[in-house]
Order: sequence, then structure tokens, then C-alpha cells
Amino acid sequence: MRKKESVDNPCPCGGANYSVCCRPFHTAEQTPTTAEALMRSRYSAYALGLSAYVLSTWHSSTRPARLDLGPELAQGKWIGLSVKSHSTSGTAATVEFVARYKPAAGPASRLHERSRFVLENGSWFYVDGELFDSQGVKLAS
Ligand SMILES: [Zn+2]
Repeated sequence: MRKKESVDNPCPCGGANYSVCCRPFHTAEQTPTTAEALMRSRYSAYALGLSAYVLSTWHSSTRPARLDLGPELAQGKWIGLSVKSHSTSGTAATVEFVARYKPAAGPASRLHERSRFVLENGSWFYVDGELFDSQGVKLAS
């Protein structure tokens, strides 16, 4: 099983050890206490193909009915995460990050997003995000 093998490996989010980084969140042994920790665990879930986790941490107001981390994602690889900023105000938070993705063929691409999160019943949820281009200019949604 891929999941078992990855236990002692570096965490996709950049942590030294998956078993003490994002895994406790993926297995629901722990709940992320900050929006940044949740964001990192969602990135790792994307990298590991854990679509149920991605959906369960998506706010009910914006959550898609289903999420298919499909074949094109399986063929490529998320290769890095860099968190640029994190701010929290009461039950709202924003995290700005750059995630890099290497498709099976072609050049790597970069996702620059400022995500919004909300704290509800003691848990952080992803709400939505604004995307930026490679020059850091906000893209029209
Ligand atoms: Zn991690």
C-alpha cells in the first residue's frame, strides 16, 4: 500500500517525516489547530491522492459534490509547497502559498493562491481562494 510506505517518508508539504506531520490529520487522529496546518495537510492530501480528506476539509458552502484526483494528476507529481504568509483574525484566516506541480510530460507549473479559511465548531475549513499569475498579479475569477 502506498499509504503505509509513505509513513516514514518526508511529508509532501515539506515536513521531515510524514508520520508526525500531516498523517495524523489525514487519519483524523489530530485536528489542525491553524489554517496553515490545515492548508499544508490539504496540499499533502492532493499529493497523495486522498480526495476524501480534501473534501472533508472543504467548507460546506463551497465544497464540490465530488472530487476526482484523476489520472492526469496520478501521472504527475506535486513537487513542492512554499507558504508565503498566514494571517488569522478571529474565525477567519488567509494563507498565501505557491505549490509546484510536475506533469508526466511537459514543464512544471506553479499554482500561486491566497486561500480563505474559516473556523467552525473548532475545525478549520477551506472556503475559496484567489489565484495569481507568475508575476504575482491577481487573476480575474
Ligand atoms: Zn506535512
